Amino acid sequence: MSFNCSTVKTPDKNGDLSFINQVPTQWKDIPKEPIKYAPKEETIFLSGGLTLLQDKLVEAALNSMDINFIALPNPDFKSFQTGKAFGNRGQCNPTYFTVGNLVKYLQNLRDEKGLSPEEIVQKYVYITAGGCGPCRFGMYITEYKKALRDAGFEGFRLTSFEHDKGIFQGDEIDENILNFTPRFFVTLIKSVIIGDIINLLGYKMRPYEVKKGSVDEAIEKCKTLVSTAFMEHANLIKAMWKCRRVLEKVKLNRLQPKAKVMVMGEFWAAMTEGDGNYNLHRFLEAEGAECIPQPIINRLMLSLWEAEQALHKKEQLEVKDAKKIDFSNVKTRLLIKAGKAAVKTHFTLYAKAIGLHDYQIPDIEQLAQYAKEYYTLECSGGEGHQEVAHLIESVKHNLAHLVISIKPFGCMPSSAVSDGVQSLVTSRYSQANFLSIETSGEGAANFYSRVQMALFKAKQSAKEEFDALEKPEHIPGKVNNYLYQPKSDMAGSAAALIKSLKS
Ligand code: SF4
Repeated sequence: MSFNCSTVKTPDKNGDLSFINQVPTQWKDIPKEPIKYAPKEETIFLSGGLTLLQDKLVEAALNSMDINFIALPNPDFKSFQTGKAFGNRGQCNPTYFTVGNLVKYLQNLRDEKGLSPEEIVQKYVYITAGGCGPCRFGMYITEYKKALRDAGFEGFRLTSFEHDKGIFQGDEIDENILNFTPRFFVTLIKSVIIGDIINLLGYKMRPYEVKKGSVDEAIEKCKTLVSTAFMEHANLIKAMWKCRRVLEKVKLNRLQPKAKVMVMGEFWAAMTEGDGNYNLHRFLEAEGAECIPQPIINRLMLSLWEAEQALHKKEQLEVKDAKKIDFSNVKTRLLIKAGKAAVKTHFTLYAKAIGLHDYQIPDIEQLAQYAKEYYTLECSGGEGHQEVAHLIESVKHNLAHLVISIKPFGCMPSSAVSDGVQSLVTSRYSQANFLSIETSGEGAANFYSRVQMALFKAKQSAKEEFDALEKPEHIPGKVNNYLYQPKSDMAGSAAALIKSLKS
């Protein structure tokens, strides 16, 4: 059908252009009416979105500092739909899941618990991590504010520390109500590190449990032991020793050749344990695989590395023959060094106590060296060059039978940049079994079938690797003890155990 232009009728008023003659004013995201917020003893802090275990440990850690803190329930599909209903279009789905999860929680307080929206706004504060981007991460705070306002919670307070600078981006919260002191961060990081260690052990043990559910039961007990230690200000290393006793009782059958799958990709999609990534880790385990998850400390170490690089660049830009030493640079360098040392020390102490012997905190500098030929290291945002580095590392050191890079649909750093680069990496390392997969919040059937296809090849590799090894006549009982973690160049856990018996 063709139109004659003269038959197309233009509207009488083509949009409202009345703003043209208005004096421009600064846009401020503040409530129309001033709000009298509740005093400290009535203020309740909310957060969430880490792994299930870490959310609970963070809750115990912050409660132990007399911070009235509640971890939100794990974001689910309803959170996603709520986020979509109140959020802008074109956001990536971690925004929809996390923003929607907060709105859903507040709606529940209003509709089920009978609190008025005014009371909720006065009493509750949400703590989150923020950043300046360069991807959509820089828009999270604005997204939260928009969704909260549209859902009827205008003036709800959000506070955020930037993941890469440790400074604040959200609303200024009265220091008497919440003070981001070094003690706050150290306690928070301890709970995250302990959560990482227990999670890593859970992923190592669960695929080999003799009685279904026994590892989860043991982890539940560990969660109680560590939470109690936080609340009672008791020794956390001792608590980890107690966890070791609990885990030792779990019966395992570790000589089953299972495909080892490294799950990496966009931080939130790779870490979350629920609808946000279609429960990928549990799905893989149900399909007969063992997962290598990405602990949160990896992201922490990357942030410290990025801060160090930024400082280095800043120093290079300074006038070469300047007489004065910039003490702010010296202080920042010392803080970064102290941060790295603190993470490593706490990780080593807790890991030793509970019996995680074979996990190394990633060498971020080494990973950067792997990636730099393929990915500009200055290009930050999301995981930056890390996805490329992890794939290369996995092939070079034979770490996994399959590497899955999971990311939300349309993730700028991961889908748009890293995945493009990965095609060059996979063409040079043809032995890599690599799957890049997007989560959109919908379309689970397609997602699962793509994972199953890649997993089929990984399972075959695991079996071939195991079958090729000569088995000793006598298998000592230690192979089924989780504390026995021999170093090996085999990707599969069962193959690594058998090979260790020969040497
Ligand atoms: S890394 Fe990707 S998913 Fe995460 S905020 Fe940025 S664009 Fe969104």
